[in-house]
Amino acid sequence: MNLQEQIRRDFPILKTKVYNKPLIYFDNAATTQKPRIVIDTVADCYASKNSNIHRGVHFLSEQLTDKYEESRAIAAKFLNAKATEKIIFTRGTTESANLVAFSFGEAFINKGDEVIVSEMEHHSNMVPWQIMCERKNAKLIKLPITKSGELDMEVFPKLITGKTRILAITHVSNALGTINPIKEIIEIAHSNCVPVFVDGAQAVQHINVDVQDLDADFYAFSGHKIYGPTGIGVLYGKTKYLEKMPPYQGGGEMIKKVSFDKTTFNELPFIFEAGTPNYVGAIGLAEALKYVSNIGIEKIAEIETDLLNYATDKLKDIEDIEIFGNAKHKSSVISFNVKNIHHSDIGTLLDKLGIAVRTGSHCADPVMDYFGISGTVRASLAFYNTKEEIDVFVAGLKRVLGMLR
Ligand code: PMP
Repeated sequence: MNLQEQIRRDFPILKTKVYNKPLIYFDNAATTQKPRIVIDTVADCYASKNSNIHRGVHFLSEQLTDKYEESRAIAAKFLNAKATEKIIFTRGTTESANLVAFSFGEAFINKGDEVIVSEMEHHSNMVPWQIMCERKNAKLIKLPITKSGELDMEVFPKLITGKTRILAITHVSNALGTINPIKEIIEIAHSNCVPVFVDGAQAVQHINVDVQDLDADFYAFSGHKIYGPTGIGVLYGKTKYLEKMPPYQGGGEMIKKVSFDKTTFNELPFIFEAGTPNYVGAIGLAEALKYVSNIGIEKIAEIETDLLNYATDKLKDIEDIEIFGNAKHKSSVISFNVKNIHHSDIGTLLDKLGIAVRTGSHCADPVMDYFGISGTVRASLAFYNTKEEIDVFVAGLKRVLGMLR
């Protein structure tokens, strides 16, 4: 059995049929499918290990608490974070961005300060900063993009002023596939004493991320986009910021002692994990991180780049197609439109052929506004996809366009 067959066997859903056609799943930027080991781990937690973690004195609780904390260590290792206290489990990238925007904002942002956010952000890494800026009377500054779907790196340094307090930026664009030069961006920001929050939701599954090498101040990703469960995510933060940030939510393990006069808070990372954490999700995520690490992120990236180039070449031959996002460095996302045809019509008809793509604005309205469009068709590929699936997709697309023209 070759590597591709082995990989596909690990993902049970890939055998599914929709409308009696083999499923071709090209919506991996929205969420990835789960390998058997993740599904089994989650099921086993509920079937034979379940108990609320922390503070339990009984076997099951202690066992699962250890597993939860082991998962934190696995997440730390995955990002090459120095210590587990810097790893906070959240619900996902959206919650991580909201946590930092709120809490960093409370601690460090005042009236008249500035926050830079790029024009290619997912709404989840834009709106939380906008809300915070409104609350604090601060200014949201746009880092613009260019026609190729890349950040305007000439303009970027000129946006930083003495009032800039933080830069919030995506590592990889979900709408365009652009891989941003995040290390260079962080270097420029740091040379101006500006910390950086990196949205890694579309990056960690394609790129080896080393938060120490990047020197990222905050780095967030979602479990479900890296073959793990939904409802779990990771926020890495530097202690020097986290320890100065007030809690985001109250209750549960974030507390040391409560009285009506005063409540004292737990230490990092627990202070940012209010309520019963998604311990089953964290344990499932750790299995997903082990799974991708065993294959190797470089290997995964190699397979996906090959698929991206193959699909892009085939799509380019289609009459009147326009691909949005032509960056030099791209992840395996292809966003496109075909002249005079609505993206959702294409997606709806492709679905009837068993092909799952996403259509619309991909929660990136500013990107769509920049290109003057309402949305695109987005095919996002993962390492379990194949060239044969791309062939079926391209043939299906031609058929659909023939019907719609
Ligand atoms: N940022 C990017 C770049 C994304 O692609 C997404 C998900 N589409 C998010 C943030 C939000 O992730 P989640 O919904 O898992 O919180």
